Order: sequence, then C-alpha cells, then structure tokens
Amino acid sequence: MVTSIIWFRRDLRLSDNPALTAAVAAGGPVVPLFILEDATKGDNTCRDYDSGTGTACDWWLHHSLNALEGALSAQGMSLVLRRGDPEQILRQVVEETQAAAIFWNRRYEPGGIEHDRKIKQDLRLQGLTVESFNGSLLAEPWSVKTKADGPFKVFTPFWNALQRNRGQVPVQAAPRIPQHPAVRCFSERLDDWRLLPRNPDWANGFSDVWQPGEAGALDQLVTFLEKSLCHYKEGRDRPDREQVSRLSPHLRWGEISPNQIWQATLMASEKTGKSDGLRAAAWAFLRELGWRDFSYHLLYHWPSLPARNWRPEFDKFSWNQDSRAFQAWSKGNTGYPIVDAGMRQLWVSGWMHNRVRMITASFLIKDLLIDWRQGAAWFAQTLVDADIANNSASWQWVAGSGADASPFFRVFNPITQGAKFDPDGSYVRTWVPELSALPKQWIHKPWEAPAAALEEANVQLGKNYPHPIVDHATARQRALATFEAIRGDQ
Ligand code: FAD
Repeated sequence: MVTSIIWFRRDLRLSDNPALTAAVAAGGPVVPLFILEDATKGDNTCRDYDSGTGTACDWWLHHSLNALEGALSAQGMSLVLRRGDPEQILRQVVEETQAAAIFWNRRYEPGGIEHDRKIKQDLRLQGLTVESFNGSLLAEPWSVKTKADGPFKVFTPFWNALQRNRGQVPVQAAPRIPQHPAVRCFSERLDDWRLLPRNPDWANGFSDVWQPGEAGALDQLVTFLEKSLCHYKEGRDRPDREQVSRLSPHLRWGEISPNQIWQATLMASEKTGKSDGLRAAAWAFLRELGWRDFSYHLLYHWPSLPARNWRPEFDKFSWNQDSRAFQAWSKGNTGYPIVDAGMRQLWVSGWMHNRVRMITASFLIKDLLIDWRQGAAWFAQTLVDADIANNSASWQWVAGSGADASPFFRVFNPITQGAKFDPDGSYVRTWVPELSALPKQWIHKPWEAPAAALEEANVQLGKNYPHPIVDHATARQRALATFEAIRGDQ
C-alpha cells in the first residue's frame, strides 16, 4: 500500500483541506509533515528564531501546530515537525517513510511559488506522485482574468469576475482516516523551535483573546454569523463595537478556508425568513474576502509588491528618517488618541481593527512622512494575522502607491475619524486608560480641553499623556506639498 505525505503549510486544518483529502484517498498510511522554513524560501514568516524575539505570527503558529497535533493524534496520526530546507527534508522523509506520493496546497508568495515548482519537478523525476491544490483562496490568481487575458488592477471588476467564475465549490468534510500500522518518522520537538517570545514575553495577553487552531476558527465563525453578521455592513467601521469576524489570524494559517466561510455565510443569510438586510450584510462581508483574494492576485502578478511601490513615481518620494517619531507611533505615544489606541491594541492583543489600521497607517505615512515599508514591517512583526499579501497591498493602498489605491491627497484626519467611528470614545478609553475619565467632546482632541476638564479627568498633557507630536493641519499641508513635488517631476 502506498504511503503518502501531506505537507501542511498554510492550511493547518483537517476539514476542507483538498491536499489532506487526496492523501487519505490514496488509500495507504498518511504521514502529516510541517516544515519550518527559512525566511528566504518560504512565505516570509520565519525569522531569527534563536534570538527569542519571535513575532506575533510565530506565537500563533506555535499554538496552531499544537492544536493540529491534537486533532491528528485523535485520529491516530502524529505530526512530523522538521526545520530547514523543504527540498532536503522532503527527500529525507520520503526515504525514512518509503512514501510514494506527496500532496500539498499551493501558496502564492514570490519565493514560495518557484521553490515549490522546483521541488515538484525534482520529486516527480524521482518517480513520486506529487499533486497540489487550491486550499486557501476563493479563486487562484491566474484563474481570474480581464477580457484582454491579463491581470486586474482594479478591485470592482476583479470582484465581479471572481463571482462570475467561481461557481459552487462544495466544502469537504474532514476525511475519516483509516487505521494503518504507524509509519515511523523522526520529529523535532515544537518547544525546541522557540517560536514563543521570551525575555520579555510580550505575547502574554494573547491567550486571553485568541484560540488558535481549527476548532477556535470554527467557533469564531459560528459566533460571528450568529451574533454579528447582521450588523456587519454598518458595524464593520466601528472599532468600538465587536461586529467584525476577527477571522484574519485563522485565515492566515489556514485553520479555516475562505471557501468554508463563503458557504457558511451564504447559508446563514439564505435561511428562510432571513431579511434582505442580512443578505446585504453577508455580501458586504464576502466582499472583504474578495479583497483578500485581490491582494493575492496583485502579489502573484506583481511579486515585488512587498518591497517596491506599485506606482514607480513614488520611488522619488522623499521620506523622513525619524526614529523618534517612528518610536512614538509604534508605542502609541503620538498624542492623537485614536492612533495611540490602535497601536496599543496591536501591541497588547496582536490585532487592530481595520478602520484604525487605515488611520494609523495614514498617520505614519502622511503626518510623519515615514516610508510605508517601515510601517508594514512593524505590522508584520506585531500582527497575529500578518499576511504578506494583505499587509503589503493594504499599506500601498493607504500610501496611494498601490493598485486601485486611496489617492495620496486623502489624508485621514485622526480627530474627525475618531469622532465619527468612536463617537463616545469607548475604544480610546479601553486602550488609552490615561484618558478614560475625559468627557467625550475632548476624548479625540485632549489638547483643546479646558484646563479644568483635564484636571478633573487627571490628564496632565506632557506628563501622563503626550502633547501631539505634530500638528495635523500643518503635517497635512507638508504631505501634500511633498506629493506635489513627485507629481511635478512626472
Ligand atoms: P473582517 O472585516 O471580518 O473581514 C473578513 C476577512 O476578510 C478578514 O479576516 C480578511 O481576511 C479579509 N479582509 C478584510 N478586510 C480586508 C482588506 N482591507 N484587505 C484584504 N483582506 C481583507 N489583513 C490581514 O489579514 N493581514 C495583514 O497583515 C493586514 N495588514 C493590513 C495593514 C493595513 C495598513 C491595513 C489598512 C489593513 C490590513 N489588513 C490586513 C486588512 C484588514 O485590516 C484585516 O484583514 C481585518 O481588519 C481583519 O479583521 P477581521 O478578520 O475581523 O475582518
């Protein structure tokens, strides 16, 4: 009987996992394998593990692998963990297990694609069966094309084409794994990978907020569909409410597939008696999954997206090198409450609401004139959902340097954004407790509050909460002038 390897990568789940289903269908014993790859070869997530600094994503990966190991052992299998170059490791594991087939779900990062292609070719030359599948997108980047047979640069036509092409893709239940004599294979110990941060353990609050793993992902989906989907259309812009799905870190590691989310959302919205409002909310939500696919579409067709401006005219932009301003931004000490609340939410919980991601990113790029790549790198380290496609595409969207981007002259005003999307200031009060007693008319602009109001709220500007590090109106003018300079050069 043929032994098969399922190479888990960004698909740490048993259900709706086409590679796992194919490995089980091959009929023989299945060896589940996860390889911790070098940053240069894989999807940019693996860093200097021995330093003990880790990233928020590494924290998630540790717990997600634990959860996957638990789910597999309940089915009589044990997860094989190896660290290093996948090409070599696959060869070793094939030799150790006498496997004749390997299955995996595809990835779309620039380094990863070429690497996988080469591995596939080499293994096939050795006579192995190698099959790969789509396990993480609604539609793969090459399958959605313009009429001229090219890639899309604008979201709405991309989204329309995706919906036209997609059809019904049934969700596959987790396969029942037949019992075979165990295939022996050496595995490293997860703890030895030192994925968790130490000295200091800055992720110690994450476990209160997150449940990594497939079961956590499914719970999160069910809770969202039951409680929040109906509010999503209006609520998705409100950081002070819990009305978004918070599925992003689960999607990041493939603990749930976008296909599962798609089908479950449609089912929830189509149950008899459900209103048009719910259907509209469901489509507003599914459209965001469409943005995720669009980010991957851009990354696949423009692999330099994480490193280079999509619009080359931005290469001439003169960015500030200002480490003090960057430090104030990253630690949530800019003096603009909505910006500081977002950056502290990120640090404490590994996640930030989308509206606030836009506000904080705009502040870094436009108020402080700091290169979007510096902000993207900070997000990549601190977000539990750090995703090379979504992160780069979104930062370029805010900067105005990306495809279908927000124009550069759209500068988010942190005061009016705060007042509109956190009208009572409860989001700010949660994350910036120094301001918690300030009345709502001053909560987004404490520097304008009368001395008596500050005193009563125990706010001492410059002492227990900073003065604004820039004046927004002046900074906005400076940003527009800098932008005009690159436009003038064209
Ligand atoms: P929901 O609103 O519930 O949406 C459901 C899913 O749709 C999300 O989980 C996500 O997969 C996808 N999605 C939602 N909004 C977007 C969007 N604007 N672009 C692409 N996909 C989207 N998202 C990441 O997953 N990883 C990142 O590293 C990341 N970096 C970002 C950086 C900046 C500067 C900005 C402005 C946005 C970034 N986003 C990123 C997109 C978005 O903020 C998050 O996906 C979203 O906040 C996750 O919360 P949620 O799961 O509750 O989203």
